Amino acid sequence: MSAMTLRFRTPDVKFGLSVDETMVEKTLKLCGKAGNTETGGILLGHYTKRHDWAIVTDVSGPPDDSKHGRTSFYRGIKGLQIWLNYIWGSKRHYYLGEWHYHPFASAEASFVDEMQLREHSDNRLLLCPEPVMMIVGGNPNGAWEAKAYVFQKGSKLLPMDYLGTDAAGYGKKIYPIHNYPKKR
Ligand SMILES: [Zn+2]
Repeated sequence: MSAMTLRFRTPDVKFGLSVDETMVEKTLKLCGKAGNTETGGILLGHYTKRHDWAIVTDVSGPPDDSKHGRTSFYRGIKGLQIWLNYIWGSKRHYYLGEWHYHPFASAEASFVDEMQLREHSDNRLLLCPEPVMMIVGGNPNGAWEAKAYVFQKGSKLLPMDYLGTDAAGYGKKIYPIHNYPKKR
C-alpha cells in the first residue's frame, strides 16, 4: 500500500497545508532510513493565489550537519542556502517550513519543536514569518501518523486539523500504510 495525500487546515479554516502522496512517500522513506533516531528537513512549495493553502511540492532530507538524537532533531544548514537560492530563483517554489520524525512515538509537537519553529519564523534568511511544521510519528513502515502546525507570527504554534476521508478519525486517527483495513 502506498502513502496517501495528507491535508490539514487551521480550525478557523483560513489556512491549509496539502502534502500529496508522492511527497508523503518520500518523507516516510527518509523516516525509515533514520531508524530509531529523529530526522527531518524542510518543506518546499507554493501558496494558492488566495494564500489559503500551502502546497508542498518537495521535501528535503536532513542537511549533513543536522544533529539526530532519539528524541531530538536539529536541522542543519549545510548546502541548504544554495538549494534555497536556486529554488527562489525559479520563482515558483518557496520555503514553507519544516518536517521531522518522532520514531515510534506520537507526532505531537514538543516544547522544543515550538521553540525551533519560532526561531525559523524569526530567521530572515528563510523569508517565511509563518512557517508550517509537519511531524510524522509511529512506524514509517506500519502504523504511522502525521500532525501539522503553523507558527503564527508573534503568537504560538497552532495545531491544524487533519482533513481525512474518515470523519470518525478526524485529527486523531493513525493511518497505517500497510495495515489498511481491507474493503470487504
Ligand atoms: Zn519533535
